[in-house]
Amino acid sequence: MNEIFLLKLGELVLKGLNRRSFEEKLMSNIRRRLTPYGKFHIYTRQSTTYVEPQNDECDMEGAWNALTKIFGIVGLSRARACDKTPEAMLETARTYFDGQLRAAKTFKVESKRADKSFPMTSIQLSQWVGGELDELYPDLLVDVHAPELTIHLEVRDYAAYVHADPQPGAGGLPVGMGGRAISLLSGGIDSPVASWMMAKRGVQLEMVHFFSYPYTSEEAKQKVLDLAKLLTPWCGRLKVHIVPFTAIQEELRRSCPEELFTILMRRFMMRIAQRVAFREGAGALITGESLGQVASQTMYAMRCTEAVCELPVFRPLIGMDKEEIIRIARKINTLETSNLPYEDCCTVFTPKHPRTRPKL
Ligand code: ATP
Ligand code: MG
Repeated sequence: MNEIFLLKLGELVLKGLNRRSFEEKLMSNIRRRLTPYGKFHIYTRQSTTYVEPQNDECDMEGAWNALTKIFGIVGLSRARACDKTPEAMLETARTYFDGQLRAAKTFKVESKRADKSFPMTSIQLSQWVGGELDELYPDLLVDVHAPELTIHLEVRDYAAYVHADPQPGAGGLPVGMGGRAISLLSGGIDSPVASWMMAKRGVQLEMVHFFSYPYTSEEAKQKVLDLAKLLTPWCGRLKVHIVPFTAIQEELRRSCPEELFTILMRRFMMRIAQRVAFREGAGALITGESLGQVASQTMYAMRCTEAVCELPVFRPLIGMDKEEIIRIARKINTLETSNLPYEDCCTVFTPKHPRTRPKL
């Protein structure tokens, strides 16, 4: 067991205090998210974060999968540690990448040397290990410009590491770095994607769901809780506030012009969500609205709903097409659950001719 993970941290443009809080937040998020997978030693050296399992009990697949979903990590690779000799690095590259070396047509070896006392230069080390591998795999050609497979050798202070190209990480900013916000989570496709996008910018989320029992069923509520659960690998732990909404809807239906029903209902949603935000110390609201998607998502309608809010309302999907939204929903694994057929409270009370240009 000498496999470790190497992580590249993102947002190199951040400076000073932001940079430090980025690193501190990210390290504590990584530690917390890896807890279920065993004991790991996690530390940062020379701009790379190392994740080393402390014993054979560690669930390496589970940990790897968790790391791919942590915002703030831009690239990750699986690496194997070995002795700091050219022979050990060659042997490790050969055994660790045997399958890939057989499958690839072209390759190159790239070396980095943090330990300047190592007796070969980076170029000499690459040439020697590359030359040996070239002989061991007769079908494989060296291509230094556009190789299919790059084998990286890193000579560090304590050991050498052999790894392949990093795969892309989740990117973004560490959750918690961007403050806390209340996300209005329905059972649809859009609001889980909107939530995910704001978490990607470092926002710690709490969810509010408006529940209209008996117009919407227990299954519809469970679906929302399931969606929140699907988001936790990305967003961290999530609190979901379930707000009983039936009485408000019934009263609106009884006493308001039908064509304004949706707008008025949405104003109540925003008011209540803002109350929750104040109580929980959150600084913004998030919705899954996209300009022009439905009658209540015209700019005139949004002006009317937003007028009840003091806090900023983030609408990360505002300029996106449904297709783009669906692509993200598929990637983050919420699409299938969102597509389950349970009614949500907006569809139950939808007016026949909603006003698209309401006046405040
Ligand atoms: P979604 O796919 O997210 O349900 P939608 O296209 O169905 O969005 P609307 O029903 O107009 O659009 O809702 C717009 C936004 O209002 C949603 O994205 C969500 O943020 C919020 N919202 C709607 N219904 C609820 C609800 N029952 N509970 C909490 N938030 C809601
Ligand atoms: Mg909806």
